[in-house]
Amino acid sequence: MCEHHGEPTDIQPEAEPPGRTSSGRRLSRRGLLAGAGAGLGLALVGAPRLAQAASTLSLNGAWCDPARGSFPNGGHFGAPRGNAKHAGQDISNPVGTALYAAAAGTVIRRGVGVLPGRTGNGIVIDHGGGTYTYYGHLNSFSVSQGAKVVAGRPIGTMGATGNVTGPHLHFETHTGGLGAVVDPVPFMSARGVDLRGGWCRLNPGASGQRVRAVQSLMNQRGAGLVVDGAYGKVSSDAVKAFQKSKGLVADGQVGPLTWPVLVYTLRQGAKGDHVKGLQVVLNKRGAGLVVDGEFGGVSTTAVRTFQGANRLVVDGEAGPLTWQALVA
Ligand SMILES: [Zn+2]
Repeated sequence: MCEHHGEPTDIQPEAEPPGRTSSGRRLSRRGLLAGAGAGLGLALVGAPRLAQAASTLSLNGAWCDPARGSFPNGGHFGAPRGNAKHAGQDISNPVGTALYAAAAGTVIRRGVGVLPGRTGNGIVIDHGGGTYTYYGHLNSFSVSQGAKVVAGRPIGTMGATGNVTGPHLHFETHTGGLGAVVDPVPFMSARGVDLRGGWCRLNPGASGQRVRAVQSLMNQRGAGLVVDGAYGKVSSDAVKAFQKSKGLVADGQVGPLTWPVLVYTLRQGAKGDHVKGLQVVLNKRGAGLVVDGEFGGVSTTAVRTFQGANRLVVDGEAGPLTWQALVA
């Protein structure tokens, strides 16, 4: 996979034909500018600024990693594809690796070639407000057309359908309308997600299941927080005190430095609030567990299933790498 020829990426342009939406309508001037800027690679410098300028406070905690894997050479946004530019970010891993909805929304397209220029099995999720994500080259689907999904819900598996040189997810982010592609890496980074597979970042004001996990992990340390999924002042003050006690910057951001000291390595037989936190994030990835704080056989099976589907070591033990993937 380190050889140029072996890089699993696309051999098709996978770029939107300029000036057209997927339904063939002309784009509005705003959409055209956004689409052209990003799709033609003119805004490779400007696009990240655009994405980062977006208000992230209300979005924080709402987005998550769609797939584990590595970035193949030439699989970045804007990479040359014949006369066009690559419209997304490729993430490679073997066929069958789990794929997840990057945020809540509705599956508006599911099938083969669901966007112009894209090949193989694909899914489009409408997140509202003119924001869409596209997932390409799937091996299988696990959502139906029209399905409402939450962030982290399994939507299918990684594959090599369409014109590709190997299995990978082709992941696109569209803002300001379907077809207005922006670089997924800064787009997701602005929403606390490291597409390369690092720890997610949750800032004060965030909400969601991962906040529940943080609150549960803090409760294991005696914080006595209400596990409501809202990362407000009481919770962030507790995290700041914890960070200070660990010699970290007490900024309340649960990110790459805080997560590793916050999580516990858990295995069958463990019992407590930390196990509740684990069960919550397993459920975010579709496990369907009862959140009872008891790490029994059912939870072990859920951990093993998640590890296998995400190409982690399958040992049924929730260590730092498993937590990192669960909260990504
Ligand atoms: Zn691609």
